[in-house]
Amino acid sequence: MSTDHDEPPGRILVVDDDVVTGRFLVHLLGTRGGFDVSHTTDPAVALQRATSETWDLVLTDVEMPGMTGLELLQALRRASPDLNVAVLTSHASLDNAVSALRDRADEFLQKSMPPDDLLATVAALVAEGRAARLAARQAVLAIGAHPDDVEIGAAGALLVHRSLGHEVSILTLSRGARGGTENTRAGESEMAALALGATLFLENLQDTQIREGDPTISAISSVVQAVRPTVIYTHSVHDVHQDHRNVHQAAMVATRGIGRVYCFQSPSATVDFRPTRFVTIDDEVDGKLTAIKAFASQTQVRAYLVPDLIKSTARYWSRYGDGLYAEAFEVIREAGTSAGQPGSPRPDLAAHAAEGAGE
Ligand SMILES: [Zn+2]
Repeated sequence: MSTDHDEPPGRILVVDDDVVTGRFLVHLLGTRGGFDVSHTTDPAVALQRATSETWDLVLTDVEMPGMTGLELLQALRRASPDLNVAVLTSHASLDNAVSALRDRADEFLQKSMPPDDLLATVAALVAEGRAARLAARQAVLAIGAHPDDVEIGAAGALLVHRSLGHEVSILTLSRGARGGTENTRAGESEMAALALGATLFLENLQDTQIREGDPTISAISSVVQAVRPTVIYTHSVHDVHQDHRNVHQAAMVATRGIGRVYCFQSPSATVDFRPTRFVTIDDEVDGKLTAIKAFASQTQVRAYLVPDLIKSTARYWSRYGDGLYAEAFEVIREAGTSAGQPGSPRPDLAAHAAEGAGE
């Protein structure tokens, strides 16, 4: 009863302190139903796993030592509001605990119900949970011309996206041969991506010769197809470096169907860089510095990579945010609601930004 195509089977977390019931459910849903089922007897472990792994459904018992099903349900609702949770009850009668759960659980299942019915109900819940999860999916693609561009401009925001559970990918279009040996900088890019929990796509366009048409547009388009991003970060057009401007232009073409597009600040940005979205990165600034430190072959020769400049830039932009450090972004497109997105928009700055955008 797993889903068709080449999709992985639905993942179900069973929480029941009764080992026999747990084994029965693993057999019924796993062996017979074809789902990927894990069972734990400990609600605290369940909470930890439910919030750190991807699940389509949590099936929980009501009465357990340490934490009741109600407490687990409340904690799950706070931590993962979109997660489908069904409650398993032993008795047909609704006692107090069950009625308290009634309006919080997605479904009630009786342990005594015929196995085929249980399986069918679970399959429907898994399908529903998966659809909700895919609808809520957020994937971020950050596009830079050279190694370290994305990290300097947006590493903090990317870490915020990661903490929100979003997928993050980085596309770096050149290996920066002019600023170091290609292999060294490719390795550094990998280290930096690892530090950010991001997937790296490394192209091999010619440093200082990146064009605004092809092959740049095709290179970006193929990564967009692979990643299916919902959010884009890339260079601002307000930048004195031609590679940066050309990547901006190519990205505008290749990401035209994507609802959220933001431009980050490079050290070569001009005074026309006019951000209207600010992402507070107080908890991420150290992670950002760690990612930038990966470019060790460059930190000796590039003044813009020194930590105090990175930090003081973020300190400066915090005047428009709500913390001590912030990254600043120009907004190209911002479709739909901002809920679940990092940062706060400053529409009051937008009119001001528009005045300067006459080019
Ligand atoms: Zn660059």
